[in-house]
Amino acid sequence: MDEALKVAKFGGTLVSRPEMYDRMAKVLRADPTRRFVVVSAVAGVTDSLVTTIAKPREEKEIDLYLGEIRRKHLGLLPPAGDGVDGTVAAVEALCTKLERLLYGVAYTEEITPRTRDFVLSFGERISAQVVAANLRARGIDAWPHEADLIGLMTDDNYGNATALLPETREHLAPFLRRQADAGRVSVVTGFFGLSPEGKTATFGRGGSDYSAAVIGHALELPVVEVWKDVGGFMSADPKIVPEAFPLSLLSYDEAAELSYFGAKVLHPRAVQPARAGSASIVLRNIFRPDDVGTRIGPDTVDRSGDVKSVSYVRELATLKVFASGDGFKEGLLAHAATALSNGGVNVYSAATSQTCIAFLVEADQVGRAKKLLTRIPGTVVDRVEVMPHASLICFVGEGLGYAHGVAARVFRAVAELGINVQLISAGASMVAYHFTVDTKDLERAVQAVHREFFPHRHAGPQAVVSPNT
Ligand code: ADP
Ligand code: ASP
Ligand code: MG
Repeated sequence: MDEALKVAKFGGTLVSRPEMYDRMAKVLRADPTRRFVVVSAVAGVTDSLVTTIAKPREEKEIDLYLGEIRRKHLGLLPPAGDGVDGTVAAVEALCTKLERLLYGVAYTEEITPRTRDFVLSFGERISAQVVAANLRARGIDAWPHEADLIGLMTDDNYGNATALLPETREHLAPFLRRQADAGRVSVVTGFFGLSPEGKTATFGRGGSDYSAAVIGHALELPVVEVWKDVGGFMSADPKIVPEAFPLSLLSYDEAAELSYFGAKVLHPRAVQPARAGSASIVLRNIFRPDDVGTRIGPDTVDRSGDVKSVSYVRELATLKVFASGDGFKEGLLAHAATALSNGGVNVYSAATSQTCIAFLVEADQVGRAKKLLTRIPGTVVDRVEVMPHASLICFVGEGLGYAHGVAARVFRAVAELGINVQLISAGASMVAYHFTVDTKDLERAVQAVHREFFPHRHAGPQAVVSPNT
């Protein structure tokens, strides 16, 4: 029976308006195999929690904040009389718990990664209540569940946890199967699970996509749907390339590279559990529910054509480690990479030359990274230079490794606009290349790459038809 069932994930914008609950209910009614729903927090709520715990607050501020959170969520509940009393009580109880937690942070003036994750999880906990109540009011037998309480198991890497797939399959699947067998729709919180020490651990921003893929894996389901307010995975971020268009198929590698390198439409690690279970992730548009959307699956490798999509990461910086002496490099590269990784610094890319190793890291981790690199014991680091304001552009296609001259076309298109290309990485992956530019040039560079490969989409005098297409 499980083979036929599906997970359907609905993101922040889709759980934030009554009109969206109508659409969601319609989607669930149209296909009763959609028995497992994964939800994000109401749009803006996780951001507000992040801001609230960024520094200790006065009691008054906490009261005001909780007042807003209560109002926002209670205002989204269906009219009284629709059996919402239990939900009102549950939302109130969650708000009270959150309030106490925030007081605790205020009094101790201390927040650990564990407490932070617990605080951030409240957006999803409350939204699952609100969504389930709204679905019930629309005739669907839907019930809310908090993922950490029903057995979604994680490691203890708070803030960027990874799900423990075998343990999750063991604990979570039997519970959810029983719900489905009883004909219920389970509305499960995205974004977090339970660490080995019994605490809440989040998967990082945008983590609900990953939760949906993990739940699909646990239940051995062939399809995980990720419902969006856009047409699917597109050829570029439509916010900066209005000419971007939805793609019908992407391979696991293409989707993994694009989402790791900034395509916010899918969590960077959502592909992992899907690939492990040979399942498809299907991104679909809530405004056009009959469209097929974008499918990422075990059978979606298409090597015809070259580039399929372009992504970007803003706010990075390049750290250049200079050293001297013969044979320093081998040891230094290993030491530097270990120091950065142990210090929790995420390296997006690295390049080496005879006298220098360059690392691309997030701008807000530069200070820490520089300290770690200058303190590497027993090596010959002369100096570490920081080049701020770097942004990365990634272009992806299964055909890339087989086509000739693709990188040259990209760099020519960018150079023609007078944009300087900094760090280049090609060949590490068969399906993705990336390079960096100064952040001030990012948008123009992304548009130029998109225009180079999809000139017919860019109407008007700017459209450039490449001699190679
Ligand atoms: P959700 O809340 O449903 O998870 P997100 O806001 O996380 O939605 O992701 C959707 C956003 O991703 C869109 O607003 C879009 O601007 C951005 N985006 C970036 N790259 C892409 C892409 N390649 N295809 C589609 N959307 C993209
Ligand atoms: N609410 C979380 C976030 O905003 C997780 C998600 O939306 O997927 O990052
Ligand atoms: Mg998202």
